[in-house]
Amino acid sequence: MPLLRQPLLMLARSQHVKQLVSTMPVSSGIVRSYVPGETTGSAVDVTAQLVDDGMQVTLDHLGEDTVDVEQAEATVAAYLDLLAELGQRGLARRAEVSVKLSAVGQALPGTVHGGGHKIALENARTICRAARNAGTTVTLDMEDHTTTDSTLAILRELRQEFPETGAVLQSALHRTEADCRELAHEGSRVRLCKGAYLEPEEVAFQDRTDIDRSYVRCLKVLLGGSGYPMIATHDPRMIQIAGTLASRYGRQRGTYEFQMLYGIRPLEQQRLAESGETVRVYLPYGSEWYGYLMRRLAERPANLSFFLKSLISKK
Ligand SMILES: Cc1cc2nc3c(=O)[nH]c(=O)nc-3n(C[C@H](O)[C@H](O)[C@H](O)COP(=O)(O)OP(=O)(O)OC[C@H]3O[C@@H](n4cnc5c(N)ncnc54)[C@H](O)[C@@H]3O)c2cc1C
Repeated sequence: MPLLRQPLLMLARSQHVKQLVSTMPVSSGIVRSYVPGETTGSAVDVTAQLVDDGMQVTLDHLGEDTVDVEQAEATVAAYLDLLAELGQRGLARRAEVSVKLSAVGQALPGTVHGGGHKIALENARTICRAARNAGTTVTLDMEDHTTTDSTLAILRELRQEFPETGAVLQSALHRTEADCRELAHEGSRVRLCKGAYLEPEEVAFQDRTDIDRSYVRCLKVLLGGSGYPMIATHDPRMIQIAGTLASRYGRQRGTYEFQMLYGIRPLEQQRLAESGETVRVYLPYGSEWYGYLMRRLAERPANLSFFLKSLISKK
């Protein structure tokens, strides 16, 4: 099954397959299990339910690799609507947003309106301001390694005005332990994940064991530092090691949190929350679910047969 990871991650970037697969209604079982809704209203309803169950939430308006300025602006508008609704419904204290910079312009060519980096920075700034006004925060998702320098540079800029902005680092990348050291300072929110993208061996560990070892080294840096680590994994071993390290470094609960994706190991999410840990659920919503779904299938190819059946029946 691990052999399927590479082709699935390559398909995640195929426009042809995207067109075919995207004709599936979102209600198809497998899509629905990872992406509970298409609209802001439905995402906020699910958020309210999760909050009632003792969880915190980070919402992601799906979309990525935008090469159209108007589309990037539409994504910003969607985040502004979402943040307004979270504020109005009194959910902003427990629900924040996650933003992919490639959805707000980072992938635009260098010459358009000063280039993708600059457009993404200004769009992300607009979202951070709205989040601050609503009483919540933004975390910048991390995409493939070609975007890491630009994303961390945008993070540094945003943190001058919005120091609460969170970063994501991926243990699959060779550079990440060093990036963790840079970011393990007071007030710095860092989500540590393994990494969901297909990366070349020049920049990334290829072997699962090496990625896990790197994850543990990064956990030591973040939990031993003075920032706010956000431990994003479903891996029972990593969760257990994180708990042990948190005690070893004298971390009080609430000075770090666990994060998991919506629909993955919900019983473990509940168990951790009931044991007194802070647990945040990553909740993606919207119609642009194709890339997100393919990355989830690549992590768990056992789901592929369900997916193919729903694709064929298009129910
Ligand atoms: C909150 C959050 C935010 C993330 N943000 C980013 C990001 O910004 N950039 C990025 O590159 N990656 C991101 N990821 C994805 C991450 O990099 C991994 O690809 C993903 O979490 C799977 O790795 P794992 O740590 O759960 O370990 P794995 O070793 O992949 O999985 C451990 C166990 O978790 C369960 N599991 C894992 N994946 C699935 C699945 N799809 N379906 C069902 N069960 C599953 C299985 O029981 C599996 O045995 C994020 C993950 C989380 C939880």
